[in-house]
Amino acid sequence: MVRPGWNNRGTMHATCLADPTLVLNKNWLPIQVCTVRRAFTMLFKDLARVVEPDDFSLYDFESWSDLSIPRGESFVQGVGDRIRVPEVIVLHNCDRFNRPRVVFTRRNLFRRDRNSCQYCGKRCTTENLSIDHVIPRCAGGIGSWTNCVVACLACNARKGGRTIKQVGMRLLRDPAEPPAQSAFTLHVTRRKASWDHFVSEAYWNTELKP
Ligand SMILES: [Zn+2]
Repeated sequence: MVRPGWNNRGTMHATCLADPTLVLNKNWLPIQVCTVRRAFTMLFKDLARVVEPDDFSLYDFESWSDLSIPRGESFVQGVGDRIRVPEVIVLHNCDRFNRPRVVFTRRNLFRRDRNSCQYCGKRCTTENLSIDHVIPRCAGGIGSWTNCVVACLACNARKGGRTIKQVGMRLLRDPAEPPAQSAFTLHVTRRKASWDHFVSEAYWNTELKP
């Protein structure tokens, strides 16, 4: 088996290996962009499959290497044969990539709650908002996506260190971790046309939480 990038003769090789490849997670959501070199490494280690962008068929390293290369497609030159450059790959057995997380930060929490009090619905400037622990810290509540909400100063003062049940307040919606895709942006200048489908699919197929 030819390991691309180590045995090469073509001048195409150096340029193409630095090209970007879109990486999808198990659920076919785009999670990052890597180099073609890294994509080949993941294929070779059997961590990913190539996605044929036209018909979504999947190829492992062997079957991808056996494919004939359509005219005009980029390739890398191995010892004996040319291998088409993968533009999109999907990870299939790499757990740490399964679920990209939105980091639990003040900024992201305010963003999730759209700068509005989750008790009265009032939209405020950030100085007039605070973070409320739904189950208070003194009762064992922790700082997390599901236990923290944005609250206006008045509602936060009213609730104090008590539970919503004790004060008879209600949350407008259940706090949940926001889907990572809302934070997903492709920080690349060389975006490929074959990615469009997957990047827009992510928008529509993201699981919405209540
Ligand atoms: Zn309020």
